[in-house]
Amino acid sequence: MRNSSWVCFDCKEAVRRDRERSNDVLCPSCGNSMTYLGYKIPVPPKRNTKKWLELREQILIRKSYTNKTESSILHEQLDACTEELKMLRKATPSSHRKSRVLELQNKRNRLKALIASPIE
Ligand SMILES: [Zn+2]
Repeated sequence: MRNSSWVCFDCKEAVRRDRERSNDVLCPSCGNSMTYLGYKIPVPPKRNTKKWLELREQILIRKSYTNKTESSILHEQLDACTEELKMLRKATPSSHRKSRVLELQNKRNRLKALIASPIE
């Protein structure tokens, strides 16, 4: 039997349960409903705030993705990133531009990975 993970983004808590027998999983710390993560996505270490933010973003995108079916919000986001990158490449070089380009490239890679491996 495979265990799945649930997380609380506010407390950075994670619990593992058998999915078949768990409907509403509550956070042991704050008592709110936890977000279902599945069994494939690794839970970040508690101290790694950046990873938790990325995970939250990823889960939000997946949620809207499943609601929107194939008219994919992922592709919309990917297009938006590509457009902004194009504009930035024409802009005057600056340290701000450089970090924004890196940020967008990372986001684009994450989106591409999500598109390549849809929700279980
Ligand atoms: Zn909590």
